[in-house]
Amino acid sequence: MKYTSFLIKYAEIAIKGKNRHLFEEALCKQIKIALKKCEGQFVISRTYGRIYIDYESDFDFDETVAALQCVFGITGICPVVHVEDKGFEQLGNDLKKYIDDVYPDKNHTFKINARRARKNYPMDSMELNTELGAVVLEAYPEMTVDVHNPDILLTVEIRENIYMYSEIIPGPGGMPIGTSGKAMLLLSGGIDSPVAGYMIAKRGVTIDAVYFHAPPYTSERAKQKVIDLAKKVAKYTGPINLHVINFTDIQLAIYEKCPHDELTIIMRRYMMRIAEDIAKENKCIGLITGESIGQVASQTMQSLVATNEVCTLPVYRPLIGFDKQEIVEISEKIDTYETSILPYEDCCTIFVAKHPVTKPNLNIIKRDEGNISDVIDELYKTALETDEVIVVE
Ligand code: ATP
Ligand code: MG
Repeated sequence: MKYTSFLIKYAEIAIKGKNRHLFEEALCKQIKIALKKCEGQFVISRTYGRIYIDYESDFDFDETVAALQCVFGITGICPVVHVEDKGFEQLGNDLKKYIDDVYPDKNHTFKINARRARKNYPMDSMELNTELGAVVLEAYPEMTVDVHNPDILLTVEIRENIYMYSEIIPGPGGMPIGTSGKAMLLLSGGIDSPVAGYMIAKRGVTIDAVYFHAPPYTSERAKQKVIDLAKKVAKYTGPINLHVINFTDIQLAIYEKCPHDELTIIMRRYMMRIAEDIAKENKCIGLITGESIGQVASQTMQSLVATNEVCTLPVYRPLIGFDKQEIVEISEKIDTYETSILPYEDCCTIFVAKHPVTKPNLNIIKRDEGNISDVIDELYKTALETDEVIVVE
């Protein structure tokens, strides 16, 4: 038997009271975007806190499920067989066929879970449970009923049509993109920032990204790697506007005029400033970084005081308490890891000092930043003008 539909389960958004329909609409929209890349014609419908995806043509089951598993807000994907209501006897036959197709090995316990959403159906849920259970037992004597802990929970939903399902494929959870505002992700070529973007997007946040490029110190391949990473994150977030900023001249100025043990901190402060300007220009209400306390010298709590000081927008750092291994596990799960570990240099690794300060003093950082005050306004303006926007999907 071919599945004809999917029933989409969602949990968190169902509790949002009056806003519920907004959340459901956002979820349907994201499902539509995700399925655009898949084969087949489909219709999405919303009824009584449920979302159905009905296929009007052939579709690739695995491809469709993989796409739906990237849609935040979905907790479960149930492959459904959808039959017309042609009376109880036909329903019994359809159910037997369903079991035969989905469970060729009949050594299972089962329970029927009938739901009568259409109240004019001649049998109520209790009757349906009993009668359909009897049909199954008669057809497949190897199967036995277990009402408490069945191997197979066979749900039969009576609506205009009848839906049968028994499998739930886990979805990614979270909230649908588009329900929480927009944030600007500082996306480098490393392992952490794509994971950070994924995690904040999972809370329903739309993502834009900015990458600081330092040619010729960083190569075109390094830039392409960031685009490739953005593409992988976009599988979950939908299209990302990636801003590429030429950061070379600012970096060189810092390198020439500021103490080398403070290079990274001062450079990070300029990244945050520029990111915030681009964020505000693009209606983003937060920044996202892949920072984690103590991971490197520029991520000690003292260093974070120094980088955070230049921002007025909230900076979301979802990895702040994670060990590297935990971050790696997520990056493997979302398939960014293999790209992240490609060996192309990024601008931070070229201009790093042998012994960077680990406990920078904010006043001293501010004082030393003054060394470039004669040139920075011009360089800053020029850097903003280099903004190249790449739409990554
Ligand atoms: P990642 O693995 O994400 O590169 P990291 O461990 O290398 O992080 P840092 O280089 O200290 O850490 O950078 C900290 C954060 O600053 C990154 O997670 C990212 O959000 C941002 N960042 C660093 N370099 C860049 C860059 N070239 N362009 C945009 N954002 C950057
Ligand atoms: Mg990095």
